[in-house]
Amino acid sequence: MSEHIRGFDSLAVHAGQEFDPTTGAVIPPVHFSTTYAQDGIGGLRGGYEYGRSGNPTRTALQTQLAAIEHGRHGLSFSSGLAAEDALLRAVLKPGDDVLLSDDVYGGTYRLIARILGPWGVGLRVVDMTDLSQVAAALEEKPAKVLWVETPSNPLLRITDIAGLAKLGRDAGALVVVDNTFASPALQQPLRLGADVVVHSATKYLGGHSDVVGGALVMNDDALAESVGFLQFAAGAVSGPMDAFLTTRGIKTLGIRMQRHSENAAAVASFLEGHDRVAKVYYPGLSSHPGHELAASQMSAFGGIVSLALADGAAARRFAESTRVFQLAESLGGVESLVNYPDAMTHASVRGTELAVPEEVVRLSVGIESSEDQLADLEQALAAL
Ligand SMILES: *Cc1c(COP(=O)(O)O)cnc(C)c1O
Repeated sequence: MSEHIRGFDSLAVHAGQEFDPTTGAVIPPVHFSTTYAQDGIGGLRGGYEYGRSGNPTRTALQTQLAAIEHGRHGLSFSSGLAAEDALLRAVLKPGDDVLLSDDVYGGTYRLIARILGPWGVGLRVVDMTDLSQVAAALEEKPAKVLWVETPSNPLLRITDIAGLAKLGRDAGALVVVDNTFASPALQQPLRLGADVVVHSATKYLGGHSDVVGGALVMNDDALAESVGFLQFAAGAVSGPMDAFLTTRGIKTLGIRMQRHSENAAAVASFLEGHDRVAKVYYPGLSSHPGHELAASQMSAFGGIVSLALADGAAARRFAESTRVFQLAESLGGVESLVNYPDAMTHASVRGTELAVPEEVVRLSVGIESSEDQLADLEQALAAL
């Protein structure tokens, strides 16, 4: 099958999903066994030995992940942060620096600043939407890793991936793109020159708010080997049921992202025209400073829309008055969610250079009927 398919949706459905040779089951069985019988000492069937070092359901997911990001190697983990931790520990040593963009997932900042920092890893933060700031920071002091989210969380800033990749290549730094917000259905960073793609598979890849997971995809064989060693030796692997749910989610990623993007575009233009909304952050709006760039490196603009209200109190009230949009952390599921970053997802970066303005609310626009989403936002704004 694999030589007959190229398109994104075909790869999402079929990569790693060969039917079961013993029964013909079209959906490969989920393998729960933690250990594998050996035909004599060291005589492994299919290379499997023990559940932490390898599991067929996880292999299937890793094959699928590599295919949809157009990379050679996919590695799956028990969470997005477990994936980030494995990558960073595989590439950094004491004295190395990470250059981080100034609008990233709070947990990424926390991991580097509070876990890796005490082990001697340096952290510098720059606005990566302005590549001249990246170049200046690299000139001042080399960095081992350039880490960016585009679109970023929660302000939906857009960074030029190809431009950043070139700077990284010239400076000998590894360019890592957290592609959680766009997903590979809309943006494929490795094709634009990035070295590693990171995912919180908990979000759009899983897509149904029922599994926590993380992923890395890369091309370099030596790097994949060292990260793979950490995955095995430290053990933050995906369990079989988590791997299965993520694989199942990915099969519908393409059509979900299309609908998320359509619904989000409708939400963004509705909010932009509303007099109680001070500002709308959505890369699909022509008023967004990164719109042209987003249009050039993404095939649609995704399902996350952030908005600023008059002040922090109005933002809190709004976040507590929606009904279709449920007040919860996380994003990327089929259901719409509203989040107040300052006190929820981004509480860990309060008071740092990554703090989110207190008047900002983030919406994860689900795949419900658009008219219900818009009516809900209308009633919540009317109640302010
Ligand atoms: C959620 C998230 C993470 C962390 O992933 P977990 O699965 O929660 O560990 C990393 N990056 C982004 C952009 C996220 O939204």
